[in-house]
Amino acid sequence: MKRLLILGGTAEARALAAAIAETLPGRAEAVTSWAGRTGRAPDVAGATRVGGFGGGAGMVDYIKSEGIDIVIDATHTFAETISDHAHDAALIAEVPRLCLMRPPWRLPPGSRWVEVADLEAAAEAVGKFAKRVFLTSGRQTLEAFAGIKDVWFLVRLIDPPAEPLALAAYEVATGRPPFTIEHEKALMAEHNIDTLVSKSSGGPLPAKITAAVELGLPIVLIAPPPPVPGTRADSVATALEWIELQL
Ligand code: NAP
Repeated sequence: MKRLLILGGTAEARALAAAIAETLPGRAEAVTSWAGRTGRAPDVAGATRVGGFGGGAGMVDYIKSEGIDIVIDATHTFAETISDHAHDAALIAEVPRLCLMRPPWRLPPGSRWVEVADLEAAAEAVGKFAKRVFLTSGRQTLEAFAGIKDVWFLVRLIDPPAEPLALAAYEVATGRPPFTIEHEKALMAEHNIDTLVSKSSGGPLPAKITAAVELGLPIVLIAPPPPVPGTRADSVATALEWIELQL
């Protein structure tokens, strides 16, 4: 029996854990790891652990003490630090590692979108042409937009913020994806949104993007960081095939 560590925080990590439990019983068992940033306990097949490892060295210790044979980095495209740690830790602990990475989005022809290099560039773009922004890039990105005075933000967060946000004018809409296209269109219409800001996260096109496209709204996409080196799979099915080859 091989022991897998799935680094999660994504729907793909959950789907992979479920697929391993269903298709590889007796051959592989997975423990899925979550950072523990949101209030909800992970709903995932198999064993779980929650919270940081204490850096790359902590992950090496975990891999060794828990007898992990394989590491699957199924973290979000924008989660850079944990992926760097996984890269280094797998090398040091001498276990194979696979990155389960979402394929980039393809927006429909006729969509009005611009891709910017980073959060600062997104804030600059928004400051130039937007008045009412649906900001969906996540809690940790809000500071980049703090200096913008003449823009109103509808900020989507998973959990309600513990403290007021550092934005001049805003409202918070809480909710956990997935959302429906109808929900997203209604939300944007209700708040007279004129621009959507999103990380270019890859994978299936989320409802917010389709909704903005259908409403003809401009979309500011924040480009993902460069991927860490190593073997990659772009779907749960491909990751499962790779795992079977390691057993
Ligand atoms: P990050 O900057 O790469 O990670 C920061 C620290 O959080 C890591 O050094 C690690 O702490 C801990 N950590 C992150 N993912 C972990 C995991 N799966 N299991 C255990 N510890 C983890 O990550 P982030 O961008 O803050 O994202 C945090 C989590 O949310 C990730 O798991 C990611 O998959 C998920 N997520 C992120 C985004 C996003 O836009 N960034 C979006 C959706 C979901 P130690 O150094 O102590 O080990």
